[in-house]
Amino acid sequence: MGPVRLLITGIGDAFSAASFGSSAVLDSGSGALIGIDCPGAAMKMYAEATEKSGIPIAIERLDDILLTHLHGDHSDGLETLGFVRRYVLNADRPRLHAIPEVLDRLWEKLAPSMDGATREQEGMSRLEDYFEPCPLDPAESIRIGGLTVSCRRTRHSVPTAGFKIQGEDGTFGWSADTEFEQAHVDWLADADLIVHECGLHFKHTRWEELDELPDALKSKICLIHLPDGHDVPEGPMRVLREGDVLTLPV
Ligand SMILES: [Zn+2]
Repeated sequence: MGPVRLLITGIGDAFSAASFGSSAVLDSGSGALIGIDCPGAAMKMYAEATEKSGIPIAIERLDDILLTHLHGDHSDGLETLGFVRRYVLNADRPRLHAIPEVLDRLWEKLAPSMDGATREQEGMSRLEDYFEPCPLDPAESIRIGGLTVSCRRTRHSVPTAGFKIQGEDGTFGWSADTEFEQAHVDWLADADLIVHECGLHFKHTRWEELDELPDALKSKICLIHLPDGHDVPEGPMRVLREGDVLTLPV
């Protein structure tokens, strides 16, 4: 069992011309890879993150995806992932972990491009032909690849959940898209490293709001999802880059 590593695959917001959508891949240390969100141009994104980090993201090992919400900069790569796993790699369906209100509407998004008959059956396809939907209950944690995953709903413009992923050596927190909410920060605060979104637009968290937090907490926070060209002051909260690897224990 190696260390749990969080490989940052995308740091952009919805309008970025420079970066992939905010996302990551967790290397569980036991061979399992767990994606956090899956934005568009996923294959190029995973290839570039592999090259930058030296951590190979083998799509056939990407058996679990934690999906925060359905905005395109977080979910537009699912079509590619579903097709590649099914038709290129002949691999098992990835498990798709999300709160029920995200899973319930995902097929509305994917069906226009994926609902052609699948190979083995007549008629229209279903979400279940490409993914194994795994509804998340914020009241319960689940086990994936030796890690314990819990979730909490955020305050965003569409149903969204953030995650905590706990391994033997510590816990990663992933805010997901959210307006600033003290209760969400409090929920994340016992993590050893927290990846928090930061933006300027409606239903996102502004840097100034996070900067009000205690220094001890800010020193655990890494920032993601900043708009292109939006620099924030130097401080304890460092801005992540694509290809960065966060490792536990810190
Ligand atoms: Zn969003």
